[in-house]
Amino acid sequence: MITKKIVRIDASSIKDSSCFRRFYLTTVEGYCNRGINNDIHYGTSFHKCVEEAARNPNNKFIPIKAAMDTWNEKESELIIKDTAKFLDLTHLTFACQRFLDQYDSIYEGLEIITKSDNSLMIEDKFSIPLYEDNNLLILLQGTIDSIVKIRGGCICIGDWKTTRSYNFDEYFSVYKLSPQLKTYLWALLWYKKNYPNSPISNLLEGRGQIGCFIFGAFLSAKEIVKFKRSEIFWYGEDSMLEFEHNLLNLVSKIKDTIRQNILPIAEGSFNGSCVSYTGYKCKFFNACAAQTQLNSTPEIIKHVLSSSFIKREYRPLEFGGGSKQNITTKNEKNTISNSTT
Ligand code: SF4
Repeated sequence: MITKKIVRIDASSIKDSSCFRRFYLTTVEGYCNRGINNDIHYGTSFHKCVEEAARNPNNKFIPIKAAMDTWNEKESELIIKDTAKFLDLTHLTFACQRFLDQYDSIYEGLEIITKSDNSLMIEDKFSIPLYEDNNLLILLQGTIDSIVKIRGGCICIGDWKTTRSYNFDEYFSVYKLSPQLKTYLWALLWYKKNYPNSPISNLLEGRGQIGCFIFGAFLSAKEIVKFKRSEIFWYGEDSMLEFEHNLLNLVSKIKDTIRQNILPIAEGSFNGSCVSYTGYKCKFFNACAAQTQLNSTPEIIKHVLSSSFIKREYRPLEFGGGSKQNITTKNEKNTISNSTT
C-alpha cells in the first residue's frame, strides 16, 4: 500500500520560503535540530500562561503552573542560546506573574469572543487542504492565539509574541508585511468562503473587515518585562489575493520538487537569505557552505544534514507539545478546533 505523503505548511515555514531549499529541507524533508532553543521554548511556555489566564480569569495559580509545567516538560532538551541565557524558568515565572498582575490593562477595550458552546476563541487550530492527489496532500495549518472584539468596533486576530527586541515601534512595524498575520486572516476568510454556515463564519458574518494586531512581551536581562499592543494592521483584498497567489505558487513548487525528487538549488546563497539582517545564520548554513567550498554532490550534502540534524515530520499543530486537540491524519483536513464540524 502506498502511503500518502502529507506536507504541512504554516506561517513559519512560509517565512522560510525566501530560500526554497531551506523551506523544503524543513517542511517537506523534516530536518530539525536535535534540541529546542530556550528562547523558542520560553515563548511556548509563556503562551500557555496566556491561554490559561483567559480561561481562568480569577486564578493566578493555574496559568503560572501551566507555564512552569510546559517549561519543565522539555527543560532537559533545551539548547541555551548565548544571547538568551537569561530566558530561564525564573525569568519565565516573573514574566507570567507580571502579565497576570497587568492582565486587565493589557486587555483593556478588548473582549475575547465566545463560541456557541461558551468556550473562548483562543488557541484555535486550523488545517486547510491546498492540494491533494493520490500520493500527496498539502495542508496549510496554524494556531490562532485569540480572536477578539474591540469594544464598540471590529473583530481582530490577536497574536502573542515574546521578543528580546526592546525597540517597540520598530518591532511591531515588521508585522505590516509579515506573512504570519496574513496566514491567519487568509485561513479565516477561507472558512467563511467554503463553510458559510459554520459557527466561525456565523461569528464573522456582517462584522466588516477583520483586523490583526500583535501583543508583545518585551524581554530583557536588565529590564522588567514590558507588555505592549501594536496598532491594528489591515490587509486589503489585493494584498490577500497576492498572498493566495504566492501560496499557490509555493504549492506548485512543492509538487514539482517532490515529483522530480531533487534537492532544490541553494536559492539563499543567490538572494542573500542565508544570513538575516540581524546576523542570524540559516540552520543549514554549514551544509550549504560545504557544498559551495567542496563542490559536493547532493548526496554528500544529505550526509552532512543527517549527521547534524534529526528527521521528523513537520507538524506545526503539535509544536511545543501543547496541542489541546489531537488532530489525526484522518480528520486533519478542514479542521478549525471547536469551531467547525
Ligand atoms: S544556507 Fe542558504 S542556501 Fe542553504 S538552505 Fe539556508 S538559506 Fe538556503
